[in-house]
Amino acid sequence: MPIRVSLAEALITAEALDAAKARAVENHARAALANARTARDDEEYVRRHREEVGFCPLLDRNTGACSEYDARPTRCRDTFSAFPARYCASGTWEQMSRREQDAYRREVARTPGTDGELHFIAPLEHLSEPVWVAAARAMRTSWGIEVWGDFWVLTTLARDPAFMARVSAGDARGAWRSAQSRGLAHRDLLEVG
Ligand code: SF4
Repeated sequence: MPIRVSLAEALITAEALDAAKARAVENHARAALANARTARDDEEYVRRHREEVGFCPLLDRNTGACSEYDARPTRCRDTFSAFPARYCASGTWEQMSRREQDAYRREVARTPGTDGELHFIAPLEHLSEPVWVAAARAMRTSWGIEVWGDFWVLTTLARDPAFMARVSAGDARGAWRSAQSRGLAHRDLLEVG
């Protein structure tokens, strides 16, 4: 699913990436965009994201850890997971036995921060509000415009000199057109203004 971030945060991640990771992030962004362009509704979008677009390319699949932990965006920092990453995989629930499902439910019920029923991830975005307010202010001060959107799309655009030149000039239309020319503009995944 998209991870909504500010361009200010995406710049920090973008600077931390080597060329191989940047390519992986761009490929992931393009897969997310293709899904957004063709999904008939939110339900299909979410299902296909889990089944086809898949995990964030910065996730170390062997350890379940973020490979860019220090440069991850705020949205990633405020999501608390009480269980190992394997529970995020598509089809995991269906493959669990009745006994495992009951054990899972009991674990969720006693884990603080979850919804107490089925969801083991607790989004704590209220803790991030001050960061987002500061990011919005910093973007307005530096560029005169704000840029928000999907983490992988913005991290890719943050490494694009033509896009960043338009942003730095406070040219919202030019920035949008620049993203469009790279095939990275979509109204649900990029907001410039
Ligand atoms: S914490 Fe965020 S950046 Fe790191 S792997 Fe997970 S989704 Fe990707």
